[in-house]
Amino acid sequence: MFDSVEVEPRQLEAYREIAPDEQIEEIRALAARFQGARVLHVNATAFGGGVAEMLTTIVPLMQDIGLAAEWGVIKGATEFYEVTKKFHNALQGMDVSLSQQELDTYLRYSKLNADLFDEEYDFVIMHDPQPAAVRGLMLEAGRGQPGRWIWRCHIDITDAQLGAWEFLRPYLEAHDAAVFTMQEYVKPDLNVGEVALIAPAIDPLSPKNAELNAEGVATVLRENGVDPNRPIIAQVSRFDPWKDPLGVVDVYRFVRDRVPGLQLVMVATMASDDPEGHLWYDRTREHAEGDPNVFLLTSEQDNSRQVNAFQRAAGVVLQKSKREGFGLVVAEALWKRTPVVAGNVGGIPVQLRNGLDGYLVSTTEEAAEKVARLLLDPNERTKMGESAHQHIRSDFLITRKVLDYLRLFQRLSG
Ligand code: UDP
Repeated sequence: MFDSVEVEPRQLEAYREIAPDEQIEEIRALAARFQGARVLHVNATAFGGGVAEMLTTIVPLMQDIGLAAEWGVIKGATEFYEVTKKFHNALQGMDVSLSQQELDTYLRYSKLNADLFDEEYDFVIMHDPQPAAVRGLMLEAGRGQPGRWIWRCHIDITDAQLGAWEFLRPYLEAHDAAVFTMQEYVKPDLNVGEVALIAPAIDPLSPKNAELNAEGVATVLRENGVDPNRPIIAQVSRFDPWKDPLGVVDVYRFVRDRVPGLQLVMVATMASDDPEGHLWYDRTREHAEGDPNVFLLTSEQDNSRQVNAFQRAAGVVLQKSKREGFGLVVAEALWKRTPVVAGNVGGIPVQLRNGLDGYLVSTTEEAAEKVARLLLDPNERTKMGESAHQHIRSDFLITRKVLDYLRLFQRLSG
């Protein structure tokens, strides 16, 4: 079987004072029907990126409410991750094409993983393109394992390259259901029995989002050489062209003339399935031209406390994405009452109500103007921060997501 990821236990009851009561009650009611059900979530990495982040909480919460939930990571190597990264980019509409050799590599590893699949589950959830061909290959090999199979798409595939999409589609259609983040991402030509929409969500009790007092925040800042007494803008994101790291530096340049002492902090992890990260880090560093007030903080391990601190310390959090599956970091910052200025793309407008929780922008100039405006107006920041926090509480906490999965399981169980 796949490598299994061990998760820290969590209790649903711990969310009672935090999440809306009606969510907790409905979870309990639905879970009664699935006691002992075997559920397997599958993705490509145990660490780094939004998917791993969510599974860290979803899996133990499913366990806590009585499901036998597990998390497995498929086998791969650099050549496979390079191809899946290309798939990811092609599905997000980038102009890249996959050679026959690359498609063969993808299928070779998928087959290896299909061969490893030797247990039975009630529900299998395959996350993103990396494990997407496993079910189809198992069926081709006459191994129609029981259970309901779900393909969970976390990215925006609206403008997917036709070649990549046509290649993957038959494998995706081997699933019983497909889950997208938003209605806009549903591909009309995907023929699966059930399509569900599940927006991502954050865990308010994780080290990344839990309360951290001012002293704790200041300590993390000092550890990283950042001055807690001067204004900060922050972007927390992998170094990736879609997150526009060079544009972030440009925004900072525009704003620093109007906001004396401004510091820019970019916080990033380098995930094992992201070979492009180092390249974009180098480009960003070059673009910053040695400015001592630009901090590029990278980590190869969990840096939740750092993320937590900078999302709180920043006067404004930036998310200058050009394309974004969802952008969990936006909800994370909003939950911490920090207004966000973000690209008006993908799942961002679902979380961030323009003018209420921050601003949606389309250009670097617009981003700079909104960031400067917020940094210079503490009252507006406080007002938006409170509104943002309430919005995330009602719609984007992890309890809502657990509930959405249970509702889907129920629909698939007939
Ligand atoms: N993240 C992190 N450390 C970092 C940068 C990002 O823990 O240095 C986390 C971030 O807090 C969020 C996730 O990685 O939970 C990124 O998810 P998002 O949906 O924003 O983007 P993705 O990386 O999946 O495209």
